[in-house]
Amino acid sequence: MDLMNSLRDGIAQELSWQIPLYEQFHRHPELGLAEHQTSAAVAAKLAGWGFDVRHFGGTGVVGVLANGTGPGVLARADMDALPVTEATGASYASTIPGVMHACAHDMHVVALLGAAKYLADHREAWRGTYIALFQPAEETAAGSQAMLDDGLAAGIPRPDVALAQHVMPTEAGTIGTTAGPILSAGDSIRITVHGRGAHGSMPHKAVDPVVLAASIVLRLQTVVSRETTPGEFAVLTVGSVSAGATANIIPDRAELLLNLRTYSTATRSQMITAIERIVRGECAAAGSPQEPEFEYYDQYPLTSNDAEANTRVTAAFTQTFGADAVYRTHPQTASEDFSRIPDAFGIPYVYWVVGSVPPDIYRRAVETGTVDTDIPANHSPFFLPAEDATLRMATGAQAAAALAFLARTV
Ligand code: ZN
Ligand code: ZN
Repeated sequence: MDLMNSLRDGIAQELSWQIPLYEQFHRHPELGLAEHQTSAAVAAKLAGWGFDVRHFGGTGVVGVLANGTGPGVLARADMDALPVTEATGASYASTIPGVMHACAHDMHVVALLGAAKYLADHREAWRGTYIALFQPAEETAAGSQAMLDDGLAAGIPRPDVALAQHVMPTEAGTIGTTAGPILSAGDSIRITVHGRGAHGSMPHKAVDPVVLAASIVLRLQTVVSRETTPGEFAVLTVGSVSAGATANIIPDRAELLLNLRTYSTATRSQMITAIERIVRGECAAAGSPQEPEFEYYDQYPLTSNDAEANTRVTAAFTQTFGADAVYRTHPQTASEDFSRIPDAFGIPYVYWVVGSVPPDIYRRAVETGTVDTDIPANHSPFFLPAEDATLRMATGAQAAAALAFLARTV
């Protein structure tokens, strides 16, 4: 029987243990780098299925299943929850105040476990090395780096390709893939500009950092509108401006927090150059007594799929789930730290998105143009994937994508 067809049926049988485990993780969400119970549960499952289990970066877990000579495939799931208070009203809602799996990472974990068990149960169907990697702290962009800093690259067999997925508020039962950029690079910048403080009644004795910050905010709007190439994706948001505390004192500094999203490293460095030039120029124009300071933090790398590997994975999805279930997705403006792992090995990767909204609800929202307003998205306290359909597809996708590289060709 065709491997991909039997996979679809085989995966459905895994739901009997996956659903209770998913609900258990959903009830007990854990924040980044504190995924202790999740990590222990994952390690126990992997060990029970014959995986060689290793730990990196505190709560990070890797299971290696060597099954003869062949390619190496690394599949990754993130495990962390968010500081959100759940409002879904689900019977398996979070029992931890102020913490919720609002980004479906619990679904990612259970789906990857399902694929790992499927591969362990069907060793006759493939050859090579399957590496299931469970990463902490995706939401803070710290987890993949923490695993790498703890010796991940030298501590596991070198894979040839890496795979990852994300549950999104699109139609359950569908998978979106694309070659090239699928998630943006994200950068946050803290900018401190200096003025000279004075009494509010004596502006002639001051260099006013409030006026300086205001002109910087306005001038920064020209980076995307006047400098980057029209049609080239770029977002620059000033998310915070702060200076002073009272009405009658001119403060001596102002702080601006910026967020950048880009799909190309060239555009990213063009924007950073423009931002620094504008800030320095405005400081000079204001007569600022001290150079501005730039601190780059919460940096997420670009997620850009290898074209050849994406074609192979997309073909496996189409073969397994049918052409109607697979569509070409637009790149998302969100960001991820997954690509640091394949980048550390210098290997190609494929990242895809899995739908989670019951089809009738999703289609009605599309018809009425209310997808953006009525369908709770990731990080919303109301975000709750349809359990059965999402888990089935996410598990099948991880297994099918791995077998696209590992399956024995007779
Ligand atoms: Zn998230
Ligand atoms: Zn996420």
